[in-house]
Amino acid sequence: MSAACQSRATAYNRRVSDTTELHGLLHRHFGFHEFLEGQETVIEAIVGGQDSVVIMPTGGGKSLCYQLPAMVLDGITVVVSPLIALMKDQVDAMMEKKIPATFINSSLGQSEMDNRIARMQRGEYRLVYVAPERFKSERFVAALAPLSIALFAIDEAHCISQWGHDFRPDYLRLKWALKDLGQPQVAALTATATPEVRDDIIEQLALGKFGRQPPQVFVSGFARHNLTLAVTRAKNKAEKLERIFDAIRQLKTGIVYCATRKNVEKVYEHLAEKRAQATYYHGGMSEDQRTKAQDKFMSGQCPVAVATNAFGMGVDRSDLRFVIHFDIPGSVEAYYQEAGRAGRDGEPARCELLFNYADVRTQEFFIEGANPTREIIASLHQALLRLCKGGPVEMPMSEIAEHVKAAKNDMAVGSALYLLERAGFIARDYRQGSRTYTTRLIEPARSLDDLEINFERLDAKHVRDQAKLRRIIDYVDCHGCRHGYILNYFGETDAAARCSACDNCGSGPARKHRAARPARAEAAPDATPLSVSARERTVLLQKALSGVARMNGRFGLGRITLVLTGSRSKEVFDSRLEELSTYGLLKEFGYDFTQELLRRLAAADCIHVTDSEYPKASLTELGRQVMLAKTPLDIELPPFEKAKPAARKAAAAATKAEASYDGAVFEALREWRRDLAATMGIPAYLIYPDVTLKELSRQKPQTMAALLEVRGIGPAKARQFGAETLAIIRGASS
Ligand code: ADP
Repeated sequence: MSAACQSRATAYNRRVSDTTELHGLLHRHFGFHEFLEGQETVIEAIVGGQDSVVIMPTGGGKSLCYQLPAMVLDGITVVVSPLIALMKDQVDAMMEKKIPATFINSSLGQSEMDNRIARMQRGEYRLVYVAPERFKSERFVAALAPLSIALFAIDEAHCISQWGHDFRPDYLRLKWALKDLGQPQVAALTATATPEVRDDIIEQLALGKFGRQPPQVFVSGFARHNLTLAVTRAKNKAEKLERIFDAIRQLKTGIVYCATRKNVEKVYEHLAEKRAQATYYHGGMSEDQRTKAQDKFMSGQCPVAVATNAFGMGVDRSDLRFVIHFDIPGSVEAYYQEAGRAGRDGEPARCELLFNYADVRTQEFFIEGANPTREIIASLHQALLRLCKGGPVEMPMSEIAEHVKAAKNDMAVGSALYLLERAGFIARDYRQGSRTYTTRLIEPARSLDDLEINFERLDAKHVRDQAKLRRIIDYVDCHGCRHGYILNYFGETDAAARCSACDNCGSGPARKHRAARPARAEAAPDATPLSVSARERTVLLQKALSGVARMNGRFGLGRITLVLTGSRSKEVFDSRLEELSTYGLLKEFGYDFTQELLRRLAAADCIHVTDSEYPKASLTELGRQVMLAKTPLDIELPPFEKAKPAARKAAAAATKAEASYDGAVFEALREWRRDLAATMGIPAYLIYPDVTLKELSRQKPQTMAALLEVRGIGPAKARQFGAETLAIIRGASS
């Protein structure tokens, strides 16, 4: 044990002789009678001088893990927290308990800040909450350095990890701040528990180094017995909305999370139409609008909030009876963090994920956007050298993106700009109220190779993001206990398979939901179990498996599905896959059924899917045996939906698009589409159907983001045809 740890442990022994005393402190200072799960062990370790990484879910009681030690350790407990909006409340709560505490963040004027620092130096506080960006100020760090800091508690510690969903560069500074402060004891606390994030917290804070003992990692409290976990496969938006109305009718209060701002607004409009009392919240709204929306929800004026993941940090309403995900989120941790906002009062609550495979593409689009390739970064680097040669330029990001050859996704250019800024190649000034930045080169302009950009690390993050997405898709597909799946994911192994309520185990409140409205496979009303003879069933499995075998392990399940269902897409024709004997073998079953069948075959160990950036599927030995009908396989076939005439829907959409479109743009787009279709040798409607062309000529989007707002254009289409579409629209509009 290092000298520092030893002296802390002595202080602990002197002040707290046994756990009875910890209970005494718990009761005396905080008014609680018992520790919540995991708290006591953590607190014992912290007051014993141990560096700790504490992983507990939201609402698990992490704050007490540093607040109680703050009462017994010699010196100040500094709490780093990004939740500036909540600091005052936290400090007020401490003061009510007669615990001397204060906060230091950008909401204070300089003189008040100096005043608080002076009082800190006089030892007037036990707890000081500090915003991470304070550590940018050398003056602030210098003021802290001579103080006796007993504990450096880092709340929301996942913000230090670039693998986390909420990375904040200011957190990277903390490692240096710790060094300047003489390596005080650290407690890093978070609700994000993946092994990568955990390891990254330890590495980024250099825990276990500089003479410290290796940190102890605590994972507890992830089991939420009062939550019912369910996944409902929804064929379309209408079915999803039906589920939301069902939850509002039955359960009244909750949050509906959507993946995009567009979906937030659409869902909100539907709720408003039906006079549901709801509010909405996303990052595209002004700060004032967001505060108002949050207040309406927190005050109970609106029992339902429709929001993107921007809504959450600081949502402290414990009586939410449901959290519904309208779209699949990007990872299990993002899902559980958001879903975990339900039922924080311990009363039963429903967490339902509405799943449609098409939504996965939105997340794939986000992943591409967040992980620019080396090619994009290099192309942007070159473009900026050219653009900024004569001095600073003022340009919106979308315009910069036009100069980047490799970019199909504006968001990726935004991420690449951020990387180049962080590497000290450019500086950007954001002009309030506009989307425009002034960008200038930092002289002397350096070559890409001279910049500190770790491409290997970026690639690794890309692969991990994709792997995380696969894990949440696995959660959707899992046939076992959903609670068990999540606990296992977070590494809380002892609690595995303790299902209290999920749609797969069907115990507890889940059963009620099932009765009210079947979840999962039974969800789609037009879906029925496929009625086939044993012989037909064997042949069906053989066809599906031969589709895998025929592709020789070169493609993923998506492409195999396209081939089996006889798709006329570019992905198929480009690789001449239509020439395979398995092309169109399962055409009559459609994409969704075939895709689900392949997934189930993978889950049954007949197909192996590689865990790589572009997962590739091949047959396992068992799969080969089943394909050759040498081994029987007993798996449940997916529900089967008969194709419905889409005429009515198409007609409604067409009427809307007819309303007011620009004829010149429409004609230009149509001509371009005809030429492209001829070049690609596919029917024109496979590029865009007429209704989409009309919608495009009505909205005339100018940026990739606006293009994605157009009905009928998803990330895949935007990737494939987006740049050309925008160019045609621009040309024809001018
Ligand atoms: P987290 O930071 O993990 O999200 P908090 O520290 O905010 O959670 O605690 C969640 C709630 O639990 C708070 O209202 C807190 O007062 C309460 N709490 C914490 N510890 C205990 C305890 N031992 N007994 C009862 N309530 C507790």
